[in-house]
Amino acid sequence: MVQNFDALRKKMVETQLIARGIKDQRVLQAMLKVPRHLFVEEALWDRSYGDYALPIGEGQTISQPYMVAVMTELLAPDKDDKVLEIGTGSGYQAAVLAELASKVCTVERIGALGMRARKVLDFLGYSNIAVRTFDGTYGWRDEAPFDGIIVTAASPEVPKPLLEQLKEGGRMVIPIGDKYLQTLMVADKKPGGAVDLKESVKCVFVPLIGAYGFKADGR
Ligand code: SAM
Repeated sequence: MVQNFDALRKKMVETQLIARGIKDQRVLQAMLKVPRHLFVEEALWDRSYGDYALPIGEGQTISQPYMVAVMTELLAPDKDDKVLEIGTGSGYQAAVLAELASKVCTVERIGALGMRARKVLDFLGYSNIAVRTFDGTYGWRDEAPFDGIIVTAASPEVPKPLLEQLKEGGRMVIPIGDKYLQTLMVADKKPGGAVDLKESVKCVFVPLIGAYGFKADGR
């Protein structure tokens, strides 16, 4: 059956985002625009606007639309901002951010996912997104500092290099907790370098694996 993806996307924005309190018009417009189905395999297209995360291969997931919206609204990127994302996955969150910020640098640990994301993002014409494959818990030193940093995998704590690479006045959104349940945290770096940490919603993400994250066996 041929799906009307524009209609599915509109319904997703209305019933999953607006109805649950997402208010930022820029975020809503971005999620109305980015064709989420293209970021998952074709067999999953008819489920790609559903209210859940979906598998993207390699044991990883594309996050639930609502979680993408919450994190993007909390980050609140400005049009002139340079944003770092750790955990490219499918590339969907990077595309949403690229609609709002001037440049998005996104890092993925698994090469096959990074390559697939790059292909979709090229197909859609996102020339303001740079994709690299390495352990993103080190940040991206050559591109630092960043106005905003978003981590889309669960971390035991805020990775120190990421805090260092965040501009004073910048903000980081990151799920902190154990492997099974996390709290979305918002870290504001004040002028002078002090960090103000606030709790947002509970969430469940796949683990951030790396030098400043969980060990490869998930511990
Ligand atoms: N933002 C993604 C999207 O829009 O599809 C979803 C991200 S998925 C929930 C988490 C991703 O983080 C996985 O693809 C995983 O391989 C990646 N990841 C885990 N540890 C990482 C690390 N140290 N550096 C970079 N990426 C990492």
